[in-house]
Amino acid sequence: MERFTYDALPGRVVFGPGSSRTELAPELARIGAGRVLLLASGSGVGPAHERIGDVPVVAEFTEVREHVPVPVAERARALAAEVRADALLAFGGGSAVGTAKAVALTTGLPILCVPTTYAGSEVTPVWGMTEHGRKTTGRDGRVLPRTIVYDPELTVGLPVRISSASGLNAMAHCVEAFWAPRANPVSSALAEDGVRALAAGLPRIAANPADLPARGDALHGAYLAGASLAGAGAGLHHAICHALGGAYDLPHALTHATVLPHVVAALLPSAPEALRRMSRALGSDDPAGALRDLAARLGIPAGLHELGMTEEQIEPVARTLDGHVPGSPLDRTALRALLHDAWAGTTTKESQ
Ligand code: NAD
Repeated sequence: MERFTYDALPGRVVFGPGSSRTELAPELARIGAGRVLLLASGSGVGPAHERIGDVPVVAEFTEVREHVPVPVAERARALAAEVRADALLAFGGGSAVGTAKAVALTTGLPILCVPTTYAGSEVTPVWGMTEHGRKTTGRDGRVLPRTIVYDPELTVGLPVRISSASGLNAMAHCVEAFWAPRANPVSSALAEDGVRALAAGLPRIAANPADLPARGDALHGAYLAGASLAGAGAGLHHAICHALGGAYDLPHALTHATVLPHVVAALLPSAPEALRRMSRALGSDDPAGALRDLAARLGIPAGLHELGMTEEQIEPVARTLDGHVPGSPLDRTALRALLHDAWAGTTTKESQ
């Protein structure tokens, strides 16, 4: 019998088409919000305005940026203080949620999230901020959103290209939960179901972005992905993407989507439990191949060179990672072979 430790995290989930039209005011009242600061990215502002109805919004912060630059976080915190906000409403993708988390980190204000991508950040107590080209992340209970209102209708307008990349970013959370440092059977069960839901939803979204049940599957998968990441932590894949994003400012979700099939090809052969669960979830006895085919069908670049990264940029990232990824089964040579594959879009034996 396996021994394990699992920290169950609090958080209320309200899920359903149209929920953002009817549930925001009651859910904010439930957490005692009387003076709400709305945080939304450009694309989130319009839908947010249509849905906030009689929510007591006292100010809006729309200067949302990926990876939350520290000056942006400081301006959002200053606005929250100036308007005496008592709750944060994050409406948008991981960047809007990340900005709300930066405010919650210093103020302790409760967050209600309305996610419009599949990033999964709304389920985790993990914050991230960037300064002078370096991203710092941390774990803090104050940033864990209190309530999440998932409305698949809000994601119908998410372009297929962003949906596919964001969905595979979520799948990366699931896959890493199988071998991350705090891997445990509860997170693994959530992760397996997350892989299944995302693999079911994403191809149908690519074929028809207005397919609401497919959007529901992907959003459900995103929740399971965030929950598995929160419960098990992150491993080699996230470490690689984090290093690449910090060093070369590569687009977050697309970098994850491009790198994931390579990490899976390299690690799955030595991870029997992950192999079993991935095979079941993807309905294939070659889950690494099935994932590579899924990414190709979704139009994800085969290698990072297609995102503008140069071959010379591989080694500095490898040096950042050397000895800094707890539990990674790859030695220096295998890590470099994997990074080269992820850059070139190839598969070599050495990284496996
Ligand atoms: P994002 O929030 O930057 O959104 C991507 C783009 O999609 C933006 O241009 C946005 O305006 C647009 N968009 C969002 N929803 C839309 C919609 N419904 N319709 C049309 N356009 C829409 O990107 P993301 O991938 O969701 O989030 C990335 C950020 O989240 C990164 O900073 C990453 O580090 C962070 N993140 C954090 C965690 C965590 O646990 N802390 C987990 C995952 C991601």
